[in-house]
Amino acid sequence: MTVSESSSDVAVEAVTKEHRTVRGLTGLVTQADEREQMTIEEPYTGDPIGAIPLCDAADVDLAVERAREAQQAWAERAPAERAEVLTRFRKLVLDRREKLMDIVQLETGKARRTAFEEIQVVAMTAGYYSHRAEQFLASEKRKGAIPGATETRVHHHPVGVAGLITPWNFPFELALSDALPALLAGNAVVINPAEQTSHVALYGKRLLEEAGLPADLFQVVTGHGPTIGEPLIKAVDYVGFTGSTATGRIVAEQAGKHLKKASLELGGKNPAIVFEDADFDRAIPGLINGAYSNTGQLCISIERIYVHESRYEEFVDRFVAATEDVELGATYDFGPDVGSLVSKEQLEKVVAHVADAKSRGATVHTGGEARPDVGPYFYEPTVLTDVELDMDLCCEETFGPVVAIYPFSDTEEAIAKANDTDYGLNGSVWTEDAEFGREVAQQIRAGTVNVNDAYGPTYASIDAPMGGMKDSGIGRRHGREGILKYTEAQTVAVQKGQGMAPPDGVPFWLYAKLTTGALRLMDKIPGLR
Ligand code: NAD
Repeated sequence: MTVSESSSDVAVEAVTKEHRTVRGLTGLVTQADEREQMTIEEPYTGDPIGAIPLCDAADVDLAVERAREAQQAWAERAPAERAEVLTRFRKLVLDRREKLMDIVQLETGKARRTAFEEIQVVAMTAGYYSHRAEQFLASEKRKGAIPGATETRVHHHPVGVAGLITPWNFPFELALSDALPALLAGNAVVINPAEQTSHVALYGKRLLEEAGLPADLFQVVTGHGPTIGEPLIKAVDYVGFTGSTATGRIVAEQAGKHLKKASLELGGKNPAIVFEDADFDRAIPGLINGAYSNTGQLCISIERIYVHESRYEEFVDRFVAATEDVELGATYDFGPDVGSLVSKEQLEKVVAHVADAKSRGATVHTGGEARPDVGPYFYEPTVLTDVELDMDLCCEETFGPVVAIYPFSDTEEAIAKANDTDYGLNGSVWTEDAEFGREVAQQIRAGTVNVNDAYGPTYASIDAPMGGMKDSGIGRRHGREGILKYTEAQTVAVQKGQGMAPPDGVPFWLYAKLTTGALRLMDKIPGLR
């Protein structure tokens, strides 16, 4: 068996907006010197920017084996010591933000503004968990069966090796911000990023190692998910998947087959409800951002807007006008509002959804066309009305800069329509009455709901859990939940006095009678329960 590590340290340096090329990869472990290569193209132009090796099952096994060896010593370090690495990593992310944004834009074709969001959220996540890891991971005292007689504590042990499968739409954020709590909890991490966005995951590995993360603890395995997904799931101890609901079902089946703990962060068809009293000066720009940010390729994007009938026409007119002001562009600066779709496949899906809706009677108010004059995969921000249940665009995730607007007449109808989907990822409610907004929000079956914003407040509340209800997922990231999922809870109880059995010489009937009396007493004294 030959083991080679690509050592082209200049590789990521070559990924710049000037050179627009990648000449190799850093830090990738493969079992053979030669692997079939896949060409990666720049979405802004369609030009090749480099190639990634297509790893196989043996490469996955090697990466996991190395990660597992490195994990032993890492788990022995105190959480505070592990947190120091994240603090240094956070600083490096902020210092290298220009390079990171270049790589993210080069691989995804997104606007630089959205690339910056990735830097921001990774830095926030590193800061949040590095400050709280000790608190979250500390062992806790819990109540024993018999007060005073049993001393019970819960310990949080690392699961071992976490395998993360991540998508291309927020490639730096989703590869790193889920890995950070896993690492802090004492685990190793092996990532299979979406093919198109492998370089940014490798650059993240490099920054982690510069920050002091032991070599081998964070592995990147490049290649096709359908080929290396199952070997990865089989080899690791925990599976963190982010991607479409369709792939999530396959991953869930495989995790079930190999009996692996898993969390699934999946797709959405996210609604916004705009009530009669909403402030349109906030709602229009807020929902423009909610619908078109990252060219609509955001799991928490708003794809459906329900507006009270009394202000429906006013809303449509103003939303269409604001959509026409959205600036598209293929530049590596903060100028354009919206960038390209990621690929030909993504463009074809968006074109098909809009064509299907048009052919069945939907009205396109603005947009509805590809923009090859800007770049091969650009698509105009698009507003539709008269979208009906039988159209793909109505109920399936489009994942493009396309939004449908619908009228409603009362609150109950708005909530019912917002919930009329198999998805349950994100929602948005607009009203000047915050208390009413909170009440409506709690009736929307989605893991996050934002009042007077599209997705920002919940997305940026790193202390609060984030994830999907219904077909949008299983499990949560962020907050306490987002780190404890990478641990095994272990309960250790020390019996100091009489256990759950009759003391010597006491007949069982008497023990049963006394215990029943004690249990009844516990009902009357809540502190004893
Ligand atoms: P996808 O499901 O096609 O791919 C996601 C990842 O799974 C990729 O790395 C891919 O290589 C891998 N994969 C594909 N087939 C696989 C298989 N059979 N076994 C194992 N892995 C496999 O999704 P995508 O197109 O890359 O991303 C867009 C989707 O991700 C959208 O549906 C979006 O809503 C969702 N998403 C969800 C969240 C969230 O947090 N809920 C965040 C971002 C994106």
